[in-house]
Amino acid sequence: MPQKEAELVCAASVRGQGNMSLFYGDTRDSLKNREAFLKELGIDYRDLACARQVHQASARYIQDKDKGRGALSEKDAFCDTDALVTDKKNLALAIFTADCLSVFLYDPKRPAVGLAHAGWRGTKDNIAAKAIKLMQRQFNTPAQDLHVAFGPAIRSCCYQVSGDFAGIFPDGIINRDNHYYLDLAGINRKQVLAAGVKEENLFDSRDCTFCQNSNFFSYRKEGADCGRMMSVIMLK
Ligand SMILES: [Zn+2]
Repeated sequence: MPQKEAELVCAASVRGQGNMSLFYGDTRDSLKNREAFLKELGIDYRDLACARQVHQASARYIQDKDKGRGALSEKDAFCDTDALVTDKKNLALAIFTADCLSVFLYDPKRPAVGLAHAGWRGTKDNIAAKAIKLMQRQFNTPAQDLHVAFGPAIRSCCYQVSGDFAGIFPDGIINRDNHYYLDLAGINRKQVLAAGVKEENLFDSRDCTFCQNSNFFSYRKEGADCGRMMSVIMLK
């Protein structure tokens, strides 16, 4: 749990905290689950700005007028973006995942934050680097100042894919026992380093949603109806 006095709030929910999606899985308790999870972090669940990711590799600058978008209904979430960035305080950004990688971005100097949802499609389109570029444009964030963290995601131990993926990600496929496995976090790691992030500023939770399925929701393990976890980031 982050310190109350910290300038940054940055967290990902786990399975035990319930489904956080208003769209996927059993949504009956989702608002209650959000409220309980966010209250501990000092965030009013009604104030969230949420991306309803549609695997579009665009990043969006979120401002105070956007507060509450997607907080109480899926309908007004930002449906055209996979990454959100802001320099506004007390404006919590949220994305929802069950296997996809959440990429947290923090520039302590400006300060500013970002949050990207990196599935394989977004990763193919370099979504994390696009969020970093938007922070550079919008806030003059130098990449070398950025702190980056990867949340829970399906890892190369479990993410079996077809051979076609070797053509899409020539450097991101692991061949094991004649099966192909995608290293989503590894590819994102290379992308953020290529964007200028320093290796020592990169933290990876290394949690695998598939093999640690008792702790996390996994789309691949459970199917499309599974719940979603929330990743959230906010400047205080
Ligand atoms: Zn695994």
